[in-house]
Order: sequence, then C-alpha cells, then structure tokens
Amino acid sequence: MIRVQRGAEPSELATVRASELTRVRALGHPPSSEEVGTRYQTVGDELWRRQDFKCCYCESREQRKRNDVEHFRPKARAQRAPGSTATHGYWWLAWSWQNLYFACRNCNQAPHKLDKFPLAPGSVALTPEQHPPGQEQPLIIDPGTESGIEHIQFRPRSPATDAIWAPTPRGGSAKGLHTIRVCGLDRDDLLELYTAHVRQFVRPEMDRLELGTSSPGSVHDRWAELTRRVLAPSMPYVGLSFDALDHFVPEALRAQYGLVLTPP
Ligand SMILES: [Zn+2]
Repeated sequence: MIRVQRGAEPSELATVRASELTRVRALGHPPSSEEVGTRYQTVGDELWRRQDFKCCYCESREQRKRNDVEHFRPKARAQRAPGSTATHGYWWLAWSWQNLYFACRNCNQAPHKLDKFPLAPGSVALTPEQHPPGQEQPLIIDPGTESGIEHIQFRPRSPATDAIWAPTPRGGSAKGLHTIRVCGLDRDDLLELYTAHVRQFVRPEMDRLELGTSSPGSVHDRWAELTRRVLAPSMPYVGLSFDALDHFVPEALRAQYGLVLTPP
C-alpha cells in the first residue's frame, strides 16, 4: 500500500457536491445509503485512471467495472470500534474528492472494509458537517495522505526460497494492524498473488544485478534503474516490492555497494 497521488479535484464533482448537499440537507435527517445515491460515481473512471488502475488498499490492478468508488469515511453508517460507539455516517463527505478512492470489491466489501472505520481509543468522531481531522484518530491508513509503507511491512513467513509473503504491522503499528484486518490484506488469494509477484517479478529483477560477479559501478547503475522500474507508483504491489528488495539486498549489503533504497 503506497500513498496515492490523485491530483486536483475534477470540476464536475464540485457541481455535484453543491446540489447533492442541498438535497440531503433538506431531508431533515441523516441520509441512508439509498438517499445518498450514486452521483459521486461521476468521478469513478477518473479515480481509476489517476490511481493507475490500482486498488488503493491492496495495490492489485483491476478493471473499472464491478469495482468500487470507495468512501474512506463511510457515507451512511460507520463502525468505529474500538475508539467510539457512534454509528452515524459521514454523508457530508460523500462527494468530497479527499474522501473518494478507487478500490477493489474484495478489499471494500463484506467481510472486509464495508462501513468499518476504526478509531483509536480517546478519539471523538466528527460531528455532521465537521471536516477532518477534528479530534478523530483513525486506525486505518488514509492512502491519500500517508504511505502504507510506514505502517505495513511484508515479510516471508519462513526462510524457504518459496516462502509465502505476507503483510505485518511495521514496528507494531496499530494503524498497520487495523488496516490489514479491516481490508483483509492478508487474505489467502492475495498472499498467493504477493508471493507470485516476488517470485516472477522482483526476484528475476534482482538476479539481473549479478551481485558478486559484476563491478560495483555496474551494480550501482543497474540498482538505480531497477528501483526506478520496480517501485514506479504505476506498478502493482509497490509496498511489497520495497520490502522484498530490502530483504534480498539488506542494508549492510547495500552499504558495501553504496546502494540507496528510498521508500516511494
Ligand atoms: Zn483491493
């Protein structure tokens, strides 16, 4: 999971937001999911393209159709355990660019994220019409403002060469732990995709470095080109690739060759 750069809000969303807010405020009660409607979908295709066709949570490349425009803060109802028992949704953010992402159905729908929005104990949920951050401390990574790499670390589950790669909370990060749980980032089929990505993509790239047989200068040049390619934001599973590179060429070895590994 990496930070998503979506650029500026498309102007049509501001127009939709103005009319939709007027409409739901006139209802006189917090709108249900049906009452929120689906006009936020007007930016669905644009989100998908700007996110390089990738789910904001699992980084799988997906087709647009039958996948979701995700509300980071759920629009009609929210489960905020463990930090709050309030259940109202963030309907006033339903048409806000900062709250919208492209996400795959597997991460976004039941039994995964759906309307879950865990807050840290001591948090106070935003009240209607209040804008983030207020006194909220979400326990889920916001892909638009922070990088999942800071909170989630991928590791092989055993030292075997064909080990399963899986996400774990980096340094015990509570945000990492809750994001993995809420979005199901350790579901079995994703683990297979992660593992295949390391075996079929990262590992062959590593072999082309020819560590130990090439001159330090050529290793240095190949590493720079490799990291640019493997960690390009448009590639799938960039968070995983970063940790796989760190695993195969650990810091001590990088220091020998003067190689730099910078989180994207
Ligand atoms: Zn996903």
